[in-house]
Amino acid sequence: MPAETGLDYQRARKNMVQEQLLQRQIHDPRVLRIMGQLPRHLFVDEALAGLAYTQATLPIGKGQTLSQPYTVARMTEALLLTGDEEILEIGTGSGYQTAVLAALSRRVFTIERIPGLAELARQRLRRLGFHNVSYRIGDGTLGWPELRQFDRILVAAGTPIVPENLTKQLTIGGSLLIPEGDEHKQQLLRIVKLNAETLQREVLENCRFVPLVGAQGWREQSKPVRPVVAKTNSTPWWKPERGGVERSERNYPREPI
Ligand code: SAM
Repeated sequence: MPAETGLDYQRARKNMVQEQLLQRQIHDPRVLRIMGQLPRHLFVDEALAGLAYTQATLPIGKGQTLSQPYTVARMTEALLLTGDEEILEIGTGSGYQTAVLAALSRRVFTIERIPGLAELARQRLRRLGFHNVSYRIGDGTLGWPELRQFDRILVAAGTPIVPENLTKQLTIGGSLLIPEGDEHKQQLLRIVKLNAETLQREVLENCRFVPLVGAQGWREQSKPVRPVVAKTNSTPWWKPERGGVERSERNYPREPI
């Protein structure tokens, strides 16, 4: 098979915007423009580059995934960015969503718990010329404690509860986008901080993400990740930290929708 050229990728990006974003009611011109320009194929392994502009959720290593283009666009659009925001992102992953956010805001502070993924993302973004991103390796459910508050927070992994540390780090008027639910499916929530005491919750749509693993999310256990469907009484390798639904049947990871 002949190697794909820059022109092929350009065409693939154009089709992606047309067929996956515009046709699914993504209308923000800034989101459409940046996703039509950003080389998504550079955020996945070379062997998967040909799938980068399809609807597929793609593996990025360490059992994690890069969400399909629609999900990235939907979440970005829902943040209602004007270009002047400081954003906290939890779950850097490949760095693709980070790049979209960085192109549309003043600065992105991104946290990833898996060092290998964080380092690869940092290299990609630096190569692409993004200089308004700060990186951190650690548990994003705790927020970025040394820093003040953020205008927007985007969580790219599913949680049984909304971490309190994150709502605390929102500015008044700021919004937090987070998938909340059990391990099978979640609802994408937009939480707006109306004042110091009041949070407004809005359900945007159903979704399915890999788990948010941390002190205020799902608890990781020492058991290694096994991607097979196991017996119903098997021990899961992760459990809800508090208030969540305990999984009983399958071992993570599975691909989000
Ligand atoms: N949006 C990313 C992209 O564009 O590639 C994909 C994010 S992936 C669906 C979710 C990421 O969240 C994974 O890389 C996972 O390691 C990370 N993650 C899970 N729990 C986390 C936590 N407590 N703190 C930081 N990152 C976390």
